[in-house]
Amino acid sequence: MKKIISILLITIMVAAMFVGCKGNENSLEAIKKNGKITMLTNATFAPFEFVENNKVVGVDPELAQMIADEIGVKLEITNMDFDLLVDYVKTGKGDFAAAGMTITDERKKQVDFSIEYTTSTQYIIVKKGTDVKSFSPNGKVIGVQQGTTGDLFYASDKKVIQAKEVKRYKSSIDAAKDILLGRVDCVIVDELPAKKIVEQNKDTLECFNPGYEPESYAFAVKKENKELLDVINKVLQKQVESGKVKELVLKHS
Ligand code: GLN
Repeated sequence: MKKIISILLITIMVAAMFVGCKGNENSLEAIKKNGKITMLTNATFAPFEFVENNKVVGVDPELAQMIADEIGVKLEITNMDFDLLVDYVKTGKGDFAAAGMTITDERKKQVDFSIEYTTSTQYIIVKKGTDVKSFSPNGKVIGVQQGTTGDLFYASDKKVIQAKEVKRYKSSIDAAKDILLGRVDCVIVDELPAKKIVEQNKDTLECFNPGYEPESYAFAVKKENKELLDVINKVLQKQVESGKVKELVLKHS
């Protein structure tokens, strides 16, 4: 009797293991079955994503809604730390990330990217009245949002800038507040969010283009989730070609 029970238990356990391995919770099929798709983002990045009346809005949520509509499911948005997004997508804790995310070689090793839907470049925010023509971030205390390209490509990677110190924040908005408090000399962040922060602090901050490399924004999905990526690409392609993405950028800027 004992033997039979053990064999039965083992069989059940092995079967459960197979079931567990087989299901891909983020596949297009699973998304349709669940009736919802989850977008992961960090809503401190206007005009791409920001919080307004307790809701995450912006260019990326609008594009994500079009993707949800194309699939015929509800869109859910999870607002979280930027530097955890790639790991969350990689481990299937959400279906895709849409966060003004730049395609980088390091990230490409961990997730798959959609087509580029827009481009950007890093800007530098400084205290108003700074002579931006002669300003150099070399030897300065630099504030960045942790894990962004401003952090990885410039502030922390000594190839372009030799910072005196790098201070990492949860958002570039928090970093910019520390310019005003004299805790950092400048903040490196993508062009449009930089302009938005300056617009909201017109009397105290300004920003300029230091002429760094252009970056491509894309949505990220779990590796080998081809069917979902195909839908995302189809929607993005259409919105880029029709000029809708540019229109959304203007609308939320
Ligand atoms: N484009 C930058 C990056 O991908 C910043 C994105 C963001 O802060 N949302 O790292």
